[in-house]
Amino acid sequence: MLKSLFVNSTILISFLYLGNQILKKEKINLNSKLQEKILLGSLLGITGCVLMFYSIQLSEDSIMDFRTITMIISSIYGGFISTIITAFIIIVFRLSYYGISTASLVATYDICILLFLFTFISECKISFFKKYITMSIFNIVSLIIAFSILLKDINVLTIALRNLIFSTTFLSGIVYYNLIYISKTNELYRKLNYDAKKDFLTGLNNVRTFDNILNKLINNAIEKEERLSILMIDIDFFKNINDNYGHSSGDLVLKQLSNILVSSSRGFDVVSRNGGEEFTVILLDCNFTHATTIAERIRKNVEEYIFSVKGNRSINITVSIGISSYPDITTNINDLLTQADDALYLAKRTGRNKVC
Ligand code: GH3
Ligand code: MG
Ligand code: MG
Repeated sequence: MLKSLFVNSTILISFLYLGNQILKKEKINLNSKLQEKILLGSLLGITGCVLMFYSIQLSEDSIMDFRTITMIISSIYGGFISTIITAFIIIVFRLSYYGISTASLVATYDICILLFLFTFISECKISFFKKYITMSIFNIVSLIIAFSILLKDINVLTIALRNLIFSTTFLSGIVYYNLIYISKTNELYRKLNYDAKKDFLTGLNNVRTFDNILNKLINNAIEKEERLSILMIDIDFFKNINDNYGHSSGDLVLKQLSNILVSSSRGFDVVSRNGGEEFTVILLDCNFTHATTIAERIRKNVEEYIFSVKGNRSINITVSIGISSYPDITTNINDLLTQADDALYLAKRTGRNKVC
């Protein structure tokens, strides 16, 4: 029996890691989106079915496996929605694959009671560890009650309960350790992924992401014969801000400017910090006239904004902006960036705080 329970537990651990490959991009918790909760509940429901498929036959209609641990995981991360889906899949499989019998009906009641208990515990304002321990205790108690009702042979019942209590406690510990490990590595994965794509100071795209997106948009514009414009933005005399108010004040200005850039462009435009105090806005399907309007709006919004710096002081800054537009200004789309750069330096040379 212990051998078979060992096989059952390795299936559960393997499915934890397989499921994680699908879900690792999003952090799933009680506030996650409905689709994510449904996906989590479904994956754990399927895992429960596989565990049942490899269950241990204890009597004519009683089987033993670790399916209820999938309910713990489902409820602790996804709450009621995930748990009811997991429970539903498990119940349907239990009744349809093994047929309706006293044991399958007791198992169904057991799952329903655990569904409500686990959902209640998952909503409690206690730590992950306490939730997990409480759910695991209820799980073991419910299994003891169910098997005590079902197994008439006292010898079979004694062996089953001994193995069940030992193996469920042991596996619950291993699953807990793995869940903590998985959530820690996922968090690191998401952080590295974010850091590789985003600028740490402003949260805008970094230059690497900018390059990737620009290449894709260039190919897209050629393919669909769409227009594409780019704004290159540089703060005027930014060095003076650092010199006069300190580097951290300069950072505050960069953050506030990035907010202005995002709010002054359209929701689907691509705003990036390309380095230092240089920013770009890629304007999708946008001709030169419209690009000029957006650039002028950015320039004016920056000029009028009162920037807060260290020591409760406020300052004004200006930006110079170079525009390039395909196909209005350049017919060679690969020249977009250098042309925008040239236009920016023209704006700098001819007085700053202007759009060229
Ligand atoms: P111009 O009008 O010609 O653009 O003058 P400028 O002073 O803005 O240009 P310059 O290129 O001489 O100076 C850019 C400054 O930006 C120099 C550098 O110290 C500062 N800088 C670059 N990155 C950061 C940053 O992350 N934080 C802060 N605070 N300053 C930065
Ligand atoms: Mg500058
Ligand atoms: Mg510069």
